[in-house]
Formats: sequence, C-alpha cells, structure tokens
Amino acid sequence: MKNTYSTAKICPYVPPEGEKERSLVKQKDCNLTLEPDLYRILTKSRNYNELVHVWKSFREAAGKPIREKYLRFVDLSNEAARLNGFSDTGDMWREAYESETFEMDLENLWQQLRPLYEHLHAYVRRRLIREYGSDKIREDGPIPAHLFGNMWAQSWVSLLDITQPFPGKPSVDVTPVMEAKNLTALEMFKMSEEFFTSLGLKEMPEEFWKRSLIEKPKDREIICHASAWDFCNGKDYRIKQCTDITMEDLITVHHEMGHIQYFLQYARQPNVFREGANPGFHEAIGDVLALSVSTPKHLQSIGLLDEVADDPEGDLNFLLRTALDKVSFLPSGYLIDLWRWGLFSGDIKPEEMNTKWWDLRLKYQGICPPVKRTDTDFDPGAKYHVPGNVPYIRYFVSFIVQFQFHKVLCDAAGHEGPLYKCDIYRSIEAGQILSQVMELGSSEHWSEAMKIMTGGATNKMDAGPVLEYFAPLLDYLQEQNKNEFIGWKSNDSTICP
Ligand SMILES: [Zn+2]
Repeated sequence: MKNTYSTAKICPYVPPEGEKERSLVKQKDCNLTLEPDLYRILTKSRNYNELVHVWKSFREAAGKPIREKYLRFVDLSNEAARLNGFSDTGDMWREAYESETFEMDLENLWQQLRPLYEHLHAYVRRRLIREYGSDKIREDGPIPAHLFGNMWAQSWVSLLDITQPFPGKPSVDVTPVMEAKNLTALEMFKMSEEFFTSLGLKEMPEEFWKRSLIEKPKDREIICHASAWDFCNGKDYRIKQCTDITMEDLITVHHEMGHIQYFLQYARQPNVFREGANPGFHEAIGDVLALSVSTPKHLQSIGLLDEVADDPEGDLNFLLRTALDKVSFLPSGYLIDLWRWGLFSGDIKPEEMNTKWWDLRLKYQGICPPVKRTDTDFDPGAKYHVPGNVPYIRYFVSFIVQFQFHKVLCDAAGHEGPLYKCDIYRSIEAGQILSQVMELGSSEHWSEAMKIMTGGATNKMDAGPVLEYFAPLLDYLQEQNKNEFIGWKSNDSTICP
C-alpha cells in the first residue's frame, strides 16, 4: 500500500483547444510525482481545470488501487488488537494517551477552536471567489477541496498571495529569498541545528550528518514523505527528506529535527520508555521552535527577510500566514482518525467508507470534492498516513499543545508583549524546560510531563494559548466577515454544490 502511494505517477494536464497553455510543469510523459511535481503545481497553478486534473488523477493513482488491500488490513489489524485485549485497532491506538476522557476532550477542544476556523474559512472563501468566480464557489457553501494549494486542503499557506490582508507590506513568505540566496538543504538543516544548540540543547551526532538523506535521489525511487529515525544504538539517528528549498520545507526541517532531539534526550531511558510523553508531544517539539523561527524578527536576524513591517498591518499579514498553516490544519488533523476509528470499530461499514469520509470532510473542514465521489473511490488512501498506517490524532494534539509549550517557554525566556511576537532563540531557560520534559521519554504519564512543562499550571490539553495567539487575527476576521455567511450549507457531501 505504501509503495502504491509513494510511486504514484500521473499525466500532465492537457488544456482543451482554445485554452491558453499555462501549466508550470513542462513535461509530456506521464511521470509526474507527488514530491516535487504535484506539490509545485498545486502551490503555483491557479488554473481551475488543471487543479481538478491533478487532484483527481492522484486519487486514482494512489488511493483507489489499495481499497481492497486496506479492508483486508483492517481485518488483520483488528484481529491482532483483539488478541492483545483491545476491542479494535482504534482502541489500541488511543491507549497511547491513557485517558478515559480522550475522545470527549478532543471534541471539546475542537468546539472551542471552531469559531476561529469558521472565520478563517469564510474569509478565504471570499478571496477564492474573487479568484475563481461565484459560478465555481457558492457564497454560503463549502470550498472545493482542490483550490487550497495543498493535496489534502490541510495547509493553506500557498494562498498567501491572494489572502494577505495588506499586500503592500513586505511579504512574510521567505521562499523567494531562499531561492535567491541559493540556499541548500544542508544549510537549512544546519540552521535548524543552530537553533536547538542556542537553547542549550544537543547538537546532531556525526552519524546523523553522514547517514541522513536530505535530498531526493536521482537514481532511484524512495518514499519521499519526511521522517526521522532512531536506530536505538545511541549514535545512529537519521532524517529522510526530499527537501525542497521553500519556507514550508524549512519548517518541516525543524519538525523532523525536533524528533531527533527527542530521541537524543531520552536515549538513556530503558527502551520501553524511549517514546514521547504521548505521540503528540513528539510531534510538537520541532514545531514549537518553528513558531519562533518564523517570526519576522527572527527571519530578519538570520538574513531571510530584508525588511520587517513592525506595525499592526504587518502583524496581521504574519498572523494570517501562521493561521493558514496552523488553524487550517485543525479539522483535518482531527477527522482522519475519527474516520479510521469508525472503520476499525465497525461504525463505518466498508461499503460506505468513502462517503463517510466526505461526510466528515464536509462537517469539520467545510470542503467538498470538485468531481463526484462514490464508494468505489478510496480517497483516504491518497493520504500518506493511511497506507503508511501512522495514527494521525497525534498531529491534532500537537497543534494544541505546541501553543501551550510556546507560551510557557516564552514566559521562561522573559518575553513581554503578544504571544505571536515571541522568539525563544538563545534562551537557556526555555531549553532547560524542554530537555526536562524530553528526558523523561514516556516514563511518566503525559499529564505529569505537562505539569513539569507548565510549572504546575495544568496537566491537561488546553486550547487557550491557540486562541490567545490568534486573538488579534480573529478580531480582524470578524470585522472583514461581517457581511459573510459563517459556516457552510450543502445537501450532498460527495460533490460540490
Ligand atoms: Zn513528525
């Protein structure tokens, strides 16, 4: 299943007679790959039909062919889970969080964040209508899933150019500068390492630099989905990433380096405890650092921004960019495992599994498929973590707790002013808190780790810091959206209205 996904290739878009050739990838053969070809088309193309083509073809190549295999896998995996005393695989996965109220807590967190998401959704929908026309997107409807600049509509940063509140201000997207400077993948990794060591955290061991794979090889096919590996011998740690020279990938570099840092920190624990306090903690470490790295002031200090607009308008541009990455992700990070838990438990029947997938996509994300979907399609299969069998709720948890961690570390670093302006660079105090928590591995319940992290303030997940971070943006969006319909209506989740 993983190989089908990773080696999926599609044909380039052929414009119909009369349509101006605008495709960005000049290639005639049917060997466009997800990374980098489809990523590039999705982020840069604004040709509605080309985007439909890419969106649909990838699902046909990567998802549909593994439908039967996946159902067989669900049976086998459930059988194994039951032999281990769980009611099904979803039950087994949730065990990692050791909480009786986990599912209810997640739903409550989502309900707290939903108004922020819906305002971002309404604002982006208006900008997309301006770009593509009201014949393509209804003013009170869900948004077609292929227009977000991302294969899964889960990060919307590629829409920054058409959604920036104040386009006249210096851009907070540093990709063009990275290109102009001819930055290399290695330099991006060194930059990230330097941030970790500035906090007094560990540098990467020699083996890491020798054995990691940080550029897409030209001579063979590999699984490009970025990952970090602990070889459990105390010296061999590696990252595999087909690094593209973009701001998004610079953030991903920090994300993966966060995993390696966690591996290094808990290396002295017995093997059984060499895990994150919970899987969401493991996903959060690198992202926490990236929250500092992506502030305009920090980007300027490392030479990736010339000018910083230090005024409310510049701040809103920055906050919107961050929201297009973090807030847009929340419902999609939540629903992927809602769907899998349902399938594992039998609440979702195999013959309706694609329809149910789109019910969730509509309900939580407010998106719809640009072409009719049926139950012979298998769209969840075109998301890496499904064929790769990686539980996903960890990312939702991570996106909540990383803001909790950010707030605590900013306090420790002596930051004053709004949370979104904080940069913990060079704060040994912040680094100490991080290493205290990481050293524990999973030897304590994560609620204990949360207590240590927050200096005793809480032992729970809390959406408060996310809301605090984005508060000025929410005010702005509410004002901008005063004539908009908030939310979405649709009678059929399997096709855009
Ligand atoms: Zn990760």
